Amino acid sequence: MFEQIAQSTFWLEISKFWKQIWGAITDIGILDVIDIIIVAYLIYKVISLVHETRAEQLIKGIVLMIIIYIVSSAIKLKTLSYIMNKVLSIGFLALIVVFQPELRRILERLGRSKISNLNVFGTVAPDELEYENKIRSAIDGICEGVADMALQKTGALICIERRTKLGEIIHTGTVLNADLTAELIGSIFFPNSPLHDGAMIVRDGKIYAAGCFLPLSQSNELNKQLGTRHRSALGMSENSDAVIVVVSEETGIISVAKNGSLSRNYDVVTLKNELIADLIPEKITPQGDKKSVFRKGKKNEETKN
Ligand code: ATP
Ligand code: MG
Repeated sequence: MFEQIAQSTFWLEISKFWKQIWGAITDIGILDVIDIIIVAYLIYKVISLVHETRAEQLIKGIVLMIIIYIVSSAIKLKTLSYIMNKVLSIGFLALIVVFQPELRRILERLGRSKISNLNVFGTVAPDELEYENKIRSAIDGICEGVADMALQKTGALICIERRTKLGEIIHTGTVLNADLTAELIGSIFFPNSPLHDGAMIVRDGKIYAAGCFLPLSQSNELNKQLGTRHRSALGMSENSDAVIVVVSEETGIISVAKNGSLSRNYDVVTLKNELIADLIPEKITPQGDKKSVFRKGKKNEETKN
């Protein structure tokens, strides 16, 4: 008897719930459609940003909890919906604390998005060309220095700053602000020299700092034979748009980390091409011809490890 009453109340609630949903569907106007499209796009963006990160599993868990909360409140399971409500509101704060590095990365990536990169005037300022020459000569110096160090199996870690400012990283080392030459790079990384440990930071085509500590990547996908030098290069590329060149002390192999991905086995030619493509992207001028112009951080495609 009681079972029958409980069952009929349950179905009554479900049918009320569906009536509400049906009512909402029939009331949909053009603004609602626009609203839904924007929200769907934002959800898609969030999913693609967290895809294959530590946050992906967590977001799945949150979505499940939200579904449990909605269903439990709809069918009036008071205790469960009360608990879910509390867990979700406290959990939101906990999320911000636990996922601070990921959130920071996502916001930084948004800041570097194509919209923020738009060149409103589409013109090439004269100082940009001067800047491009400076970067070209820095790339030459880096490639020459890296080639020598790879030959001699001298370990090196060179982090080239782009749009993301690396002030916090620079504070962990020693500021030099010196002109970039292959010889200076070689002597900084020369074994037992005072600044050989840690990373060199290249800013605006100069050796800005050396002996800097880079954040280590937490990725499980990094080749287990690679140690902390490579892990820190990958970590820096996950946390910024910097391009990091690594020379292995053990093998002399040249690697490049960028956008959360580490590629190995470069030689001078491929390294130079890569750095030119990353630091001096081609720009289409308003007349339609391609022009090489230095625009930091323009190339910002995402690849996985
Ligand atoms: P290699 O192939 O050159 O041996 P590896 O990836 O195996 O590199 P390790 O052998 O652990 O790495 O290299 C240690 C050196 O890497 C340290 O002496 C230091 O110079 C540098 N290094 C390690 N961790 C960091 C870090 N977080 N930031 C900057 N430099 C680091
Ligand atoms: Mg090692």
